[in-house]
Amino acid sequence: MKCTSCGAIAVVALPSHHSGFCEVCFFNFFTGQVEKGIRRQKLFTREDTILVALSGGKDSLALAYELTRLGYAVTGLHIDLGIPASSPAARAAVDGFCRRHGLALIVKEMEAEGLAIPRVRAALLNRPICSLCGKIKRHFFNRVALEQGFTVLATGHNLDDEVARLFSNTLRWDIAYLSDQGPLLEAEEGHGGFARKVKPLWRLSEFETANYAFLRGIDYHYAPCPYSRGASFTFHKKLWADLEEKMPGRKLDFYQGFLERGRPVFAGVEAREGAFLRPCASCGLPTSSEELCGVCRIRAIVGREKKGSEPVLP
Ligand code: SF4
Ligand SMILES: [Zn+2]
Ligand SMILES: [Zn+2]
Repeated sequence: MKCTSCGAIAVVALPSHHSGFCEVCFFNFFTGQVEKGIRRQKLFTREDTILVALSGGKDSLALAYELTRLGYAVTGLHIDLGIPASSPAARAAVDGFCRRHGLALIVKEMEAEGLAIPRVRAALLNRPICSLCGKIKRHFFNRVALEQGFTVLATGHNLDDEVARLFSNTLRWDIAYLSDQGPLLEAEEGHGGFARKVKPLWRLSEFETANYAFLRGIDYHYAPCPYSRGASFTFHKKLWADLEEKMPGRKLDFYQGFLERGRPVFAGVEAREGAFLRPCASCGLPTSSEELCGVCRIRAIVGREKKGSEPVLP
């Protein structure tokens, strides 16, 4: 196959875009999609200070690499989840990446916060650990961004992540989630505050970010989390991969159609019926509950359990 842009031998075939690219033209394609994603959704400008959440995986490191290359002011944030089987490797990948590319890095250790994931899991066995872990990560993304004055918080979610989540929210007709899913969540000042959140890779598939990370020589982390199951999420991604193979380009059309025509409708309903928020009595961040936010409640439960017995860490 020949490169669609320059006629050299192609190294990446992209049926969704009816194209194939050599390495140089693939990098140009990738940059073009990131820039289009930033421009179309007005995510941020070069005046912004951007905190990029770095898990150590290919997407977040590819995002930090590309934004730095494009001249944006980027700082990394890594949440060390304290999971012995996977967190040290994730942290080492982030540390190594930031050192190699001269990127400032902030690390938040969940063990020091009384929220190491194995302890949370042991204390709250009746709750799905991934939803608690997601809540904890989002809490610290928001908190560090607000406390340290960053104007934007960026995550490496790609098009496949977004479409799988949208599909799952649609299957449940979850209006609260459908009303604010998308590449941009505006900052809010009241109730303790929400940082502006963006997903600049929303136009790029997992295949495209994986190729980008590989061709750029990015050393990422892929030791799976021992608690990872993700069955329904993976199943939805597989369904979409089959659909995309039969109908190239469908995934991006579906997601863009939602952003243009679906989300505004759900946002209108949620604005009328949305939850009342107030600042958490302990950390001051927004919550819909009477006193403590979800993460401060988890911390209190873990603290009580810890006094009793030490959980066995995997
Ligand atoms: S798989 Fe679940 S527990 Fe493990 S890091 Fe991901 S969200 Fe957290
Ligand atoms: Zn080319
Ligand atoms: Zn709180």
